Amino acid sequence: MSTTRSTLPATLPAWGLFLNDVHVKDGFVNGFLSEADIDKVLDLHGRACLTDYVKSHVDNFEKRHKNRGESSRLLWSYGTIPADGTPFIVISSQELQCQRGQPKKYHVKEEERSDHVYDKKPRTHLQKGRKEGCPATGCVKKLLKFPSHTIPVESKRSEKQRVINDLKEKLASKSVEGLPTYFVTLPMESVHNHKLIGATRRMNSDIRNKVQEFVSDNITNTKLIKRLLRKYVQRQYSSDVVKPHVTDRSYYPHERDITNCVHSIMSAGKYSHLDQLNLEKIVTDWIVSDTTKPIEERTKVYYRKSSTEFEGDALSSVEAVIGTIET
Ligand SMILES: [Zn+2]
Repeated sequence: MSTTRSTLPATLPAWGLFLNDVHVKDGFVNGFLSEADIDKVLDLHGRACLTDYVKSHVDNFEKRHKNRGESSRLLWSYGTIPADGTPFIVISSQELQCQRGQPKKYHVKEEERSDHVYDKKPRTHLQKGRKEGCPATGCVKKLLKFPSHTIPVESKRSEKQRVINDLKEKLASKSVEGLPTYFVTLPMESVHNHKLIGATRRMNSDIRNKVQEFVSDNITNTKLIKRLLRKYVQRQYSSDVVKPHVTDRSYYPHERDITNCVHSIMSAGKYSHLDQLNLEKIVTDWIVSDTTKPIEERTKVYYRKSSTEFEGDALSSVEAVIGTIET
């Protein structure tokens, strides 16, 4: 947790403490984040605001920068990104909008319309109710900063130009590397114009991975997984500055979310993930240790999944079904 400001804004939320050069304006928190902190802070922000954000397509300029580094636009400041004396390039930009932002357009199905032939409304309707035109938006910009070319912010224009010219030359000869940094603008809770209850949030990827672990261990009972998840969440995030709220469906999924998740994992065949890893290790060990056959024969292996349930010792159950192909 760090910030270069000696005086932090009084209204700064807990997740804002991770930002560098942080400033708050009209309920929006602006600041820099390292690559190591970006995902964590977006998670914390989601927990605090108890709402998901619709993400725009990422405008990605990274490829262009890599191909034609010398022609990328070098900047000292840009929009809300303040000047700190270090030149940078914007390599991607993504807009975020609260899921209760703009009313969503949807199309009426043919059969629905046929029941109401007297209804002369257009086919595209604005959905009422759930979307409330929330003004909470955000932006995540990925920058490439060049600390090797940092100069005092108040430097003269000619000095800035000299530094830019030097940097352009070094970029062209690929003799300088930028430091990936993020600049974020994120809304505080007060910007949202609706109750923050977390009931519409999607399952967090960490929670989904945990469910996958349970399924790998042959735990598929919804109620049991729900109990285990609750314990996991309380333990895992107990020291975080923003703990998941009990109404946050992202961390405390409903039973039907868990059932759907288990079903999708099993139908994707990922339930055997751990077995596969164990099996891979066994096969590798076995091939290396078996020096009685030429290598071509050693690599010919097959396995079939054990049909019996196993408890705890996944290694021994898959071990029993490995063998060589008879030739
Ligand atoms: Zn909102």
